[in-house]
Order: sequence, then C-alpha cells, then structure tokens
Amino acid sequence: MLRQTKVAVSFLLVAFLSIMEGAPDAFAGSKLPDPVKAGVAEQLFRLDCGRSLANDESVWTPGENAGHSIEFSSTCWLIKHGSEWLLWDTGVPEVAFNDPKGWSTLPKLIVYHLDKTLTDQLAEIGLKPGDINRVAISHTHGDHIGNVSLFANSTILMQRAEYSWIHSPNGSNDNVNQLMALARKLLGTPKNLQLIDGDSDVFGDGSVILVSTPGHTPGSQSLLVHLKNSGFIILSGDVVHLEANFERSIVPSLNTNNAESIASMEKVRQLIATYKAKLFINHDKQQSDKLKLLPAFYD
Ligand SMILES: [Zn+2]
Repeated sequence: MLRQTKVAVSFLLVAFLSIMEGAPDAFAGSKLPDPVKAGVAEQLFRLDCGRSLANDESVWTPGENAGHSIEFSSTCWLIKHGSEWLLWDTGVPEVAFNDPKGWSTLPKLIVYHLDKTLTDQLAEIGLKPGDINRVAISHTHGDHIGNVSLFANSTILMQRAEYSWIHSPNGSNDNVNQLMALARKLLGTPKNLQLIDGDSDVFGDGSVILVSTPGHTPGSQSLLVHLKNSGFIILSGDVVHLEANFERSIVPSLNTNNAESIASMEKVRQLIATYKAKLFINHDKQQSDKLKLLPAFYD
C-alpha cells in the first residue's frame, strides 16, 4: 500500500515537472531584472501628448458599445537616468496644436487634439528636444510617433519586428494599411536607429526595460521602469487601452494579432505580480487624469 502511494506520488511529481518544463515561460530568454537587485531611474514625468474623440467605442470593445463615442488620452513619458534623458513615445504631431479641426490617423473613426506641445512641456523643466538622448517608441501608430522628427539627433529605440512590419506589403485590413503608410511617413529615416529584438535592458542596470508585448502591432512594446520611492511602474504602450479591457482580456479589432494580444496582456499581468508594479495605461483618460503631470514627477 505504502509502495503504491510512493509510486503514485512519484508519478504525479514527474507529471507535474514535465508540465512545468513544457509550459510556456513568458520570461524565458528575456532580459528582465531581478526585482531585488534592479537599479533605479531618478525621475518619471507624464506629458500631455494629446486627447482624442472616437465615434465608435466598439472598435476597442468588439461586440459592445457600437456607435458610442469615447474620449482617450495620449500620454508621453520622460525618464531621467543619471545625466541622460529617455522619452517614451512622442504623441500627436505638433501641427495639431490648437487646431480646432484636429488631426487624425483614421479620419472616419478618430480625431486628435493637442492642447500643449511637447516642445513647450520640455521647456517647462528647462529641456530642449536636443537634450533627449534616447526616444523609445511603443509602436508606430501616428499618435505615438507624431513628433519623432523633432528628435533628429536622439537614438530611436524600436522593435525590429515593428520596423519590418511597416515596410512590408499591405494586408487585407484597409485601416491597418492606412496606419502603416502614415507610420512610414512620420518615422522617416532616423539617423540613429536602434532596432531591438525582444526584451531589452536600456541602461544595463535593470532600471528601464523595454518589454516586448506584440499583438496591437507586430512589434509593440511596453516599458518597465524602476524608481526608488514609487517602485516598479509599467507604461502600457497600447498593450491595452482601458482598465476594463485589461480585466477581461478584450482585444480591439484594429489589433494585428488576437492571440499575441492576449498573451501580451498575460505577460503584463505576470510583470505586475513579479514586480508588484503599477500599470499606467496610455489611452485610459479616466486613469491618466488622476496621474501626476509635468512639472510634477514620480521618483
Ligand atoms: Zn496604437
């Protein structure tokens, strides 16, 4: 009887270990830091990089809210690390500043407005675009790369998969094709382009990590930032647009890959658990409005 129990326990153990070995590990081969040993960045500023009105919320919540309008925030983030500055996303193009007609990536669906320019917000804390050493872009939608051209001397960090995608032939979704064409125009040919493959530790000390979260676009990424007092913060990119979508793993119809989108949301959930991190969602206006805005900052 005892022997049988032992055999059964050993069998279960072997089965469990083989399941664990076979299970996909979201962090396998990644550059994610040890939460205890990770370095810190000094400051994290939120910049107002636009707001938008979309006439059909169901694009972001398929099957629900058809014909409802929804307002989104557009957010950029500035990080001080030692003597260096890193900008995360560049927002709606400055040509849209105070233009009552607004600007659009998909005119039939969404209109963006810009109440403050990126340049003026940098100036509020004594910076010029030329002072920004690195610009990391979450993905190539126009409301995220609208001002990349202001940072001609900065190193532009983006996923290789994203760069290859916007330079690939058109697919079957006209909206997506339109977004790719606009992306090529706004990105241009950066002088200092650094293409990233997967997760990447920007400063080599675990303080600022580019985290590959594909699905919204093929090379979408999020940013994990470690601060001394605020702890770990995840800047979403567009891995999710609304807190409610994150809770229910809802994938917008504009996303290029459904399964990747769900896996990336799961990866972010694992990061939140591992690092006890907060998630700041770029376009969730209700959440963004409650966060600190430059010149205030997180440290
Ligand atoms: Zn997007």
